Amino acid sequence: MNKLRLIYNILLKEYGEQGWWPLGGIYNTKNKLSNLDDKSKFEICLGAILTQNTSWKNVEISLNNLRKNNCLNINKLRDLSIEELAFLIKSSGYNNQKAKKVKEFIKFLDSGKEVSRDNLLSVWGIGNETVDSILLYAHKKPYFVVDAYTKRIFSRIGLCKENVDYIELQKLFHDNLEENSEFFNEYHALLVEHAKRYCKKKPSCNGCPLKNECKYYKENSS
Ligand code: SF4
Repeated sequence: MNKLRLIYNILLKEYGEQGWWPLGGIYNTKNKLSNLDDKSKFEICLGAILTQNTSWKNVEISLNNLRKNNCLNINKLRDLSIEELAFLIKSSGYNNQKAKKVKEFIKFLDSGKEVSRDNLLSVWGIGNETVDSILLYAHKKPYFVVDAYTKRIFSRIGLCKENVDYIELQKLFHDNLEENSEFFNEYHALLVEHAKRYCKKKPSCNGCPLKNECKYYKENSS
């Protein structure tokens, strides 16, 4: 079996379906199957921008704050100043920058341009990972999301270098797996779970379900 598929199977068996993307703070496996309304899509895009360089826990605080103030929608956010928005999303860190990014993203949506990878990449402050999160989780387009956890796990397993380029690692997934958004949704979510439970900065290899597939484990376990 293809090694990338084998790793997915092991992780799915170990952790089960993750129910990404959480909407209203709730993880629900139906989210990846159902057609999302515009409000849900916008919440995902917002989360994808706010989660840059911070944990999801901090993003949830910001999203709840926006919700509490009846501002978790594009019309309200359009009317807020950058300073007002920055105040509401303070918990996400880099909040002044992120408020500006959200405003630029709204301008992009208002422009009516097609939501394509190239067009999204032209929005100030939105890079590969954010763009692919938006395309995969909000728009169900099969773009594999690569993050620091993906690089850490697959470099340790021995399938890429530690400093692998984003597009190069994404290509590994696109070239070796069926390009299916539900599958890519689950795979990325499982990798995040795995990085949190076992493949941390200092890995907990004993008990790791991937140890038989892992170069790092084989080289360091004697
Ligand atoms: S065996 Fe260790 S290094 Fe390899 S994937 Fe598991 S936790 Fe990470």
